[in-house]
Amino acid sequence: MENRRPMIAGNWKMYKTCSEAVAAARSLVALAGDADGVEVMIAPPFTALTGVFDVIRQSNIYLGAQNLHWEAEGAYTGEVSGQMIYSAGCRYVIIGHSERRQYFGETDESVNKKIRAALAANLRPVICVGESESEREAEKTFSTLDKQMQKGLEGLSLDQMDSAVIAYEPVWAIGTGKTATPGQAQAVHEFIRKFLADRFEETTAHKTRILYGGSVKPSNIAELMALPDIDGALVGGASLDPETFNNIIQYR
Ligand code: PEP
Repeated sequence: MENRRPMIAGNWKMYKTCSEAVAAARSLVALAGDADGVEVMIAPPFTALTGVFDVIRQSNIYLGAQNLHWEAEGAYTGEVSGQMIYSAGCRYVIIGHSERRQYFGETDESVNKKIRAALAANLRPVICVGESESEREAEKTFSTLDKQMQKGLEGLSLDQMDSAVIAYEPVWAIGTGKTATPGQAQAVHEFIRKFLADRFEETTAHKTRILYGGSVKPSNIAELMALPDIDGALVGGASLDPETFNNIIQYR
């Protein structure tokens, strides 16, 4: 994985007021602000983006958003565009998280539009894919991922794919305390890399970072990161506490 810089990303979901987010960002900067072997990203709620950016801007920590709308601007009450979150300091945006697919009706088609909008706004998309428990039980894990990636990445060029990060998040492992076994995770990551090689080029597959997400914590990160096709983690619950998140960042 010579060319792939490991990445640890924190998804704060709908947690933390502005002052709580700023305080957590301050603690994280003190603990991990100069991390250099690992790229660190945090994705606070929209309301805390600018406040957190002020705290992390001089550090090595990147800012991400948890969602965006696909239009640049317009009469879309309650929505936020890529340009807006870029101007708040974001360089990453999480797209297609399973909670958005499950509770807010996101589809592979809307994911595709959002990826294009993110790229047009100079944001790096962190594209989430993953199977549900029933899909895994029905042995549909690979066909589900194939469909999510075929449709989600439709029309993207090689250059565009170079800016993207994929996050494999088995839905049954998110916030449940269940983690995919190393064997299960590695098999899917290998499948995703092969998909990228077939759909784009071998070099794209080699360069693209594929993160694992689903109940990652300090006690399981090292084992996951030791796998050849896991290049980092997208962390939900365990990213909310700066010390715990730092213990994941310092997994080596
Ligand atoms: C997530 O929100 O992307 C996630 C993986 O959550 P958790 O780490 O809490 O399972």
